[in-house]
Amino acid sequence: MSNTPNTSAESSLPKENFAETFSELGLSEAILKAVTDKGYTKPSPIQAQAIPAVISGRDVMAAAQTGTGKTAGFTLPLLQRLSSSKSNKVSSNNVRALILTPTRELAAQISESIETYGKYLNLHSTVVFGGVKINPQMMRLRQGVDVLVATPGRLLDLYNQNAVRFSQLEVFILDEADRMLDMGFLRDIKKVISALPRSRQNLLFSATFSPDIRALAKTLVNNPLEISVNAENSTAEKVTQWLTAVDKKRKADVLIHLIKENNWQQALVFTKTKHGANKLTKQLDAEGITAAAIHGNKSQGARTRALAEFKDGSVRVLVATDIAARGIDIDLLPQVVNFDLPNVPEDYVHRIGRTARAGNTGQALSLVCADELELLWDIEHVIQQHIERKVLDNFVPVNTLGNSRPIRPLKPKKSKLFKKSGKSNDGRGKVEHKDGQRSGSNANGNKPKTPNDQARRKQPENNGGPKPRRPRR
Ligand code: ADP
Ligand code: MG
Repeated sequence: MSNTPNTSAESSLPKENFAETFSELGLSEAILKAVTDKGYTKPSPIQAQAIPAVISGRDVMAAAQTGTGKTAGFTLPLLQRLSSSKSNKVSSNNVRALILTPTRELAAQISESIETYGKYLNLHSTVVFGGVKINPQMMRLRQGVDVLVATPGRLLDLYNQNAVRFSQLEVFILDEADRMLDMGFLRDIKKVISALPRSRQNLLFSATFSPDIRALAKTLVNNPLEISVNAENSTAEKVTQWLTAVDKKRKADVLIHLIKENNWQQALVFTKTKHGANKLTKQLDAEGITAAAIHGNKSQGARTRALAEFKDGSVRVLVATDIAARGIDIDLLPQVVNFDLPNVPEDYVHRIGRTARAGNTGQALSLVCADELELLWDIEHVIQQHIERKVLDNFVPVNTLGNSRPIRPLKPKKSKLFKKSGKSNDGRGKVEHKDGQRSGSNANGNKPKTPNDQARRKQPENNGGPKPRRPRR
C-alpha cells in the first residue's frame, strides 16, 4: 500500500500553544459544565484552534475532516459570545446567529448540540428545514431566537414571507460549506448573504478547502483566521484502499461474492445512478443479503428508515448515490464499496471518508471496469497515490482495465463555480469577487471562454427553476 499524502497540521498558530483542556479556551462555567456533562475531556485540534479565535470575534475559516468535532468548534464559542453580550435583547422574528447547513439531518444534529451545550444558558434556539410544515416554524420564530439553524431553501421561504429578519444578526455560520456547494446551494447561499447586515462575524467550516470554497470565502469572510487540520483532499489515513478490475456485467456477482466470503455485516455501497442503486438492492436481496437503497427519489421517511435499519444492523448493505449519502454519519463503518467510480474525483474522497472515522480503521474497495479507466486516473491524481490492485481469481475481466498513469503533482486548481460569473450578489461589493476570477486564468494565458457552462452543470436538478436575482425584501 502506498503512503497517503501528508496530513500534518497546517495553521497559522504554533502547535505547542494548543490548549489541552476546555477550561483554557475562554468558555464560561455554564458552558464548561455542559461540556463536562457531555463527557468531553480534551478539545480536538480544530476545537483548540477555532474556539479562542471565534470568541475573539474575528472571522474564521476552518477545514478539518469529518468526524473531528467541528460542530462544537463553532457552537461552543458562539454560545459564549451570545451569552456574554446580554444587552442585545432579540426582538420579534429576529435572530442573533444563523447557522446554515446542507441537510435536514445535519440541521437537526446541530440544533441538538446547541441545546446540549447551552442547557445552562438562557438562550433560545430553533431549527428550520423543509419537508415539514412551515407554520410551526413561523410560530417559533415570532418571539425571536438567539440561534437559528437552517437549511437554505426553507430559510429563504421564511425570509420571503417575512417570518425571519436579520437586522439584529451578529454571527453567520456556514457549516459543511463544501457539501453545500456540491449540492448546488451556491445561489441560495448568495441570496442569504445578501440579506444579512454588512457588519457581522462570519465563520466557514468545511471538510476541505477546495478552490470553490476559497472563492466562496472571498465573498464571505473578512481577514479570516485560516485553520486547516488536514491537507487538502487527503484520504483518511487509516482507510485501506484497494480496487479490483472487473467486467461491468459482473460487478454485482463480485460484490455478492465478497460480502459472502468475508462475511461483511455492514457495507455502504455507492452507485452512480438511482436506478443502479435500486437494481443492486434487488440483486442483493435475492441472494439473501439484506439491503436498502437511499437516493433522491426516495421519500424522507424511507431514507430515515433505511439509515436507521442500516445503523442497527437489520440491513447489511446500504446502497446510496452520492447526494443521498451526504448527511450520513455512522460510527465504526468498516466497509465502503465503490460499485461505480464517481464522476467527480473529489467524491471518491468524500465516499471513503465515511469509513475509518474518529481514529478507527476501515476498508474502501472499488470495482472498476475498463470504461472507468479515465475516472480512475482522475481519482489517483486527486489523492496523489495509486490504489492497490488485487486480482480476484474467478472474476478476471474479459475487458482488461488499462494501466494507471504516473502520479504528477497537483496544480493549484481554480474555482469552476465562481469563474467569471460577474453576478456576485454578496452584499459586499464586487471588488473581492473579481479578485478570485480573472487574474488566475489570465496569468496562465488561458483566455476565459465560456466557463459559465461548467458552472451551470455543477448546479444540480433541484435548482433548475427560474433564477431570481435577489430575495424579495
Ligand atoms: P464534524 O462536524 O467535524 O464532522 P462532529 O462535530 O459531528 O464532527 O463530531 C463528531 C463526533 O465527535 C460527535 O459524535 C461528537 O459528539 C464527538 N466529539 C466532538 N468533540 C469532541 C471532544 N472534544 N471529545 C470527544 N468527542 C468529541
Ligand atoms: Mg460537521
